[in-house]
Amino acid sequence: MQDSKQKGIIFNIQKFSVHDGAGIRTIVFFKGCPLRCRWCSNPESQLFTPERAFNPTRCLTAAVCGRCSRACPTGAITVVDGMNCYNRALCTSCGACVNACPSGAQSFYGYETTVEEVIKKVEEDDVFYTRSGGGLTLSGGEALAQPEFALAMLREAKYHRLSTAIETCGCYPTEVLDEACHYLDQLIFDVKSLDDEKHKKFTGSSNKQILQNIQHVFEHFPSLPILIRTPVIPGFNDTEEEIMAIRRMIPLRPNIKYEALTYHRMGQPKYGYLGRPYLLEGAKADEAFMKELRAKLDAYQG
Ligand code: SF4
Ligand code: SF4
Repeated sequence: MQDSKQKGIIFNIQKFSVHDGAGIRTIVFFKGCPLRCRWCSNPESQLFTPERAFNPTRCLTAAVCGRCSRACPTGAITVVDGMNCYNRALCTSCGACVNACPSGAQSFYGYETTVEEVIKKVEEDDVFYTRSGGGLTLSGGEALAQPEFALAMLREAKYHRLSTAIETCGCYPTEVLDEACHYLDQLIFDVKSLDDEKHKKFTGSSNKQILQNIQHVFEHFPSLPILIRTPVIPGFNDTEEEIMAIRRMIPLRPNIKYEALTYHRMGQPKYGYLGRPYLLEGAKADEAFMKELRAKLDAYQG
């Protein structure tokens, strides 16, 4: 198949980002991820299929409006004591409630699109990329968990002379990452913990493939600009020993940078919209510890 016709599922295209790669960038958020990190700030990205969500703060109330329950053909939305009640088991993701809702309280995360449509959208901001050194960033979810779609997008971006970056969890076959690196100008790669048991418990997956993949990149793409990131999560990896062990694993090269990210819970409301529990309730970042940690990382010389 022609790369431009390749289809896949994304849930957002965010323009004018300055935090996810060099310069001003457009971020394409892919749907679906092999990990289930407890702190995930994009829970709407985790499933590979579109997902219906309900934001009660935007709802006009069933008593005043009630269009969604009337539109639902399966009885998944019913009104009990004036409140919308949702039965996920009955939902077929038909979208009738979303189309009927006047306030945006009912919504869908995720839609099918093509590489051609995405690249067209990304190219609208060409002039900003040229001036700032920015371009396209693939994010998610995990873009490379839809390998045909993501690789086709990277190839097509290169054909259109766009700068490319990816934010990745690294959990997929090495051949996929190897091929992606041929079309990437920057790799942003998360290493969360070197402790496999803890990694399994907090992300739902082993870290073996992830660590194997990053070593492969260090070895086979020695000049690729890489940013390794570790989200520092209370009760998971928030010790100097854990973070410095990760830092020591990373070669000291001018093209490889390392960053420890402060835990935040900005994605927490979305768990409610999706009807899922937030498993890190009560967790709080330790700002003083993060300051000390960053000073140690800045001073690290191997
Ligand atoms: S997506 Fe369709 S089946 Fe699901 S709640 Fe909405 S109207 Fe009902
Ligand atoms: S259609 Fe939208 S605003 Fe109306 S009751 Fe349903 S969720 Fe609320």
